[in-house]
Parts: sequence; structure tokens; C-alpha cells
Amino acid sequence: MALVKTKALVIREQPYQDHDKLLTLFTEKEGKQRAIAKGARRRKSGMASAVQLFAFSEMVYYPGKNFASINEAKLIEAFYPLRNDIRLMTLASYITELLDVFYDFYQGSEIVLKGVTHILYYFATEKAQNNEALALALQLKLCKMNGIGPVLGRCVQCGETADLVGFSESGGGTVCARCANKGKERLSYTELDILRFCMRSPFKAVCETDFNESHVHRLFKMMNFYISKHLDRKLKSFEFYNSVLSDLKER
Ligand SMILES: [Zn+2]
Repeated sequence: MALVKTKALVIREQPYQDHDKLLTLFTEKEGKQRAIAKGARRRKSGMASAVQLFAFSEMVYYPGKNFASINEAKLIEAFYPLRNDIRLMTLASYITELLDVFYDFYQGSEIVLKGVTHILYYFATEKAQNNEALALALQLKLCKMNGIGPVLGRCVQCGETADLVGFSESGGGTVCARCANKGKERLSYTELDILRFCMRSPFKAVCETDFNESHVHRLFKMMNFYISKHLDRKLKSFEFYNSVLSDLKER
């Protein structure tokens, strides 16, 4: 089989055999791929930095039946500062896990890859007013692109467009005052505005906007629950991120 040359983001890594690494890549040309980086854990490996978690690299690999085999990897961006901040690192892990749960092998999106590298750049350079808002925007955009975007313009139960005061995870979007009941999340007008803004705006605009922190945190949690429900998958890094947040609060 012919060699594949493509840009790729390392979204998962695990040790494999004595000196190798087994990676999950989100590539520009071939979507999600499983790949082996032979010798990547040897001290003198020339590709170590290019095949670590969160690395965005130019890769050359041989496609394989179970996994591709990386021949060459050249680092483009490592987002190093992410690793010095446990909060950012776990939020970045959540971002990469989102890619993992939304896409099957050989599926992906060049636009999504580009967006995610921008998010990691904003995290690493501390450019964002609110890091969770970027994660929220990615949640919403991935849902929309993959056919499970929440309805935010009308009541999912009766179609009413005014007085949207709640959110139904199972119903798939907003509910009006008449249909809202105890089982549904309450949603303020400000929160609904944030959801709409994050769903439609480019990441750069989300990065530069100063949102209310507790609103964003609540919506981020709500959308995580929504995604778990609709994909029937639990995101492990979300629990980890929350435990990091509560540890930091207790200190
Ligand atoms: Zn209604």
C-alpha cells in the first residue's frame, strides 16, 4: 500500500510493547486512525515529541489492517504550556475525547481538525477569555455537524418560538414555559443567548468574548450530559476535569 502523508493531531496515546506507542490520530486526509509509532518510547527516538498527546504533526505512515505504522513524524506544534496547567490539560483531554467519540475510524473533518488546533492554541497561549466557552462551542458544533444539534429556536414539544425557558436533553432542545416542567433544565435568556452564540460563531469570536463564568460552566455540563445521552457514551475526561476543578477549589 502507498504511504500516506498528512497532518495529524494525536488525540490518544498508550504504551505498546517495550518501546512503542499506540496512538489514535485525527488526520487531515483520512479522519480518525489508529497508528503505531515504533520505538517512540526509546530515549533517543527522533519522533518522540511529534507523537505525544496533543502534538500536531506532519506524519507519513503505511496504512495497515489493524493500525497504520508511522514512518516519519515531524512536529508542527506541541502546545507545550498545556502540560503545565492541570486544569487546561484535562480540558484539552476532554476536547480530544470529543473527537474520539464523535468520529469512527476513517471518518473525520478537516474543518473540525483546524478548529480544534485553534482551540488548543488559545488554551496554550492563554488567549481565551473563557476556556470552557471554547469547549462548549466545540460541543455544539460537533453536535450540529453530526446531525444531533440541539434545537434552540423553538419549543421541541409544541413548536412555540416565544418564552423558551427550559432545555430538554432527551427532547433535543429548548422548551417553552408551558411545556417546561420539573424534569427539564431551566434555561435563562442569557444562557440561551450564549448557546446560540457559541453554536454559530467562529472559535475566534468565542475566544474573544467575555461570558459569565458560571453560566458557561452550567451549559458546558448540560451539553456534556446531552452528548452522553445522544451518543450513548460517557466521556471519562469530563469526570476527571470536574474532580480537578473541585480539588483546586478546596486548596
Ligand atoms: Zn412548548
